[in-house]
Amino acid sequence: MPLDAAKLWEATLGRLQLHVPRASYDTWLRATVGLALDSDSLTVSAPTPFAAEWLERRMHHLIQQTVTEVAARPLEVRFQVGPLPQESHASPTGASRATIQTGLPLDGEGTDSPVSSPVFAGALNPRYTFQNFVTGSGNRLAYAAATAVAERPGEQYNPLFIYSGSGLGKTHLLHSIALAAMQNDLAPLYVTAEQFTNDFIQSIRERKTEGFRAKYRSADMLLMDDVQFLAGKEQTQEGLFHAFNDLHTANRQIVVACDQPPKGVPGLAPRLRSRLEWGLITDIQPPDLETRLAILREKASAQGLTLGQDVAQGIAQRPTTSIRELEGCLTRVAALAQFLDQPVSAALLRIALADIDPPSGKARTEPKEVISQVAKYFGVAPAALLARPETRRTTLEQRVAMYVLREALALPSKEVATQLGNWDRHTVRAAVTDIKQRIATDPAFYRLLLGIYRALGLTFPMREN
Ligand code: ADP
Ligand code: MG
Repeated sequence: MPLDAAKLWEATLGRLQLHVPRASYDTWLRATVGLALDSDSLTVSAPTPFAAEWLERRMHHLIQQTVTEVAARPLEVRFQVGPLPQESHASPTGASRATIQTGLPLDGEGTDSPVSSPVFAGALNPRYTFQNFVTGSGNRLAYAAATAVAERPGEQYNPLFIYSGSGLGKTHLLHSIALAAMQNDLAPLYVTAEQFTNDFIQSIRERKTEGFRAKYRSADMLLMDDVQFLAGKEQTQEGLFHAFNDLHTANRQIVVACDQPPKGVPGLAPRLRSRLEWGLITDIQPPDLETRLAILREKASAQGLTLGQDVAQGIAQRPTTSIRELEGCLTRVAALAQFLDQPVSAALLRIALADIDPPSGKARTEPKEVISQVAKYFGVAPAALLARPETRRTTLEQRVAMYVLREALALPSKEVATQLGNWDRHTVRAAVTDIKQRIATDPAFYRLLLGIYRALGLTFPMREN
């Protein structure tokens, strides 16, 4: 039964967490899900081929042993790539089963608890309006789609799925749609996926699943933010799946924001994913300098500030793609200006940001740090990176270390080759090519490298596309 597999694996993860370094756990185990259990084996899904292979090769023994302990019988563990199997129902209790019945009439008489007003009071930021949203080439499509669904909900793009990196305006657009809908006397329901999850779990605990369902069914429009939060939460995904069906059948608009396209969210049940892909999927790209400047002016004027060109440029050119961070800089300098009772100036900006920016004399990253950080992420001893393996072929962690030393620290190939097991330059070149290839094709691997770079205080080149 799928449920037993899921539970058994969750219990195993609980124990593994105690034995595996945090970084390895987050990288390799967090997104795995127990799929199937039979008399002598447990099948576990890993989000990518790379993760499956890694778990197979590096953690097999520990995992096997832990599963056997938890199950109190010997079990073979197999890894499989990919998300949950189609139609895997998880209904541990009668209460939750009630939430996955389908076919209840939409115009919900006969529900057992009163339905509260669909808008979560106070959840919408009144300043996140379409009028305050500055458009540029990176967000024009998302903006156009958002205004279209606000004007004609349920007609054109249902669902509308907006994704982007953090701080690029997804939440702003969701709130704008909800605010516009309210002006048209509709009752939109804006929730973060986390609130939805808590709501769902609470309804099960308090045996009020009908009330839960009625609440979501009664919304004229559902806006769900940060849907990546549902990754691996099988039961809550069921809840959303049914809410989705109820609303979609009734032509109610659904809008979803996420940090990935649907395909990129690990542990998303295929049938939910396919629902999310039904309508329009649109992304927001980081804004160009012009748009950043325009957004900053808009934010400044909302705070009653006027920005000189040098200050605006100074903030807009900061090395981040996140508008939220740029706004943070603006807020800091504005607060300092107010405190010192001075106008906002470039000089003040430097002072305000001094503790965010590393001092220019910051010691550069040492090769030693790279080696120990990579070793930590892969759960091996640093010495393992320095020796030539018996197979006489570089290990993946050696290639990663070579890549970082070469690409981020710009050490000469010859030196890198010598340090990491006495190879030659060609080995290092091949390693760099191999790692680039993996970065381009495997999101889990990309995240792993991001983590390593971050731990080393290095900035990682953005992945193309
Ligand atoms: P996300 O949800 O994508 O992480 P948010 O919607 O929270 O990002 O945006 C972060 C901040 O940046 C918010 O204050 C938002 O108003 C602002 N912002 C982002 N894009 C724009 C834009 N195009 N115009 C105006 N403000 C923007
Ligand atoms: Mg957001």
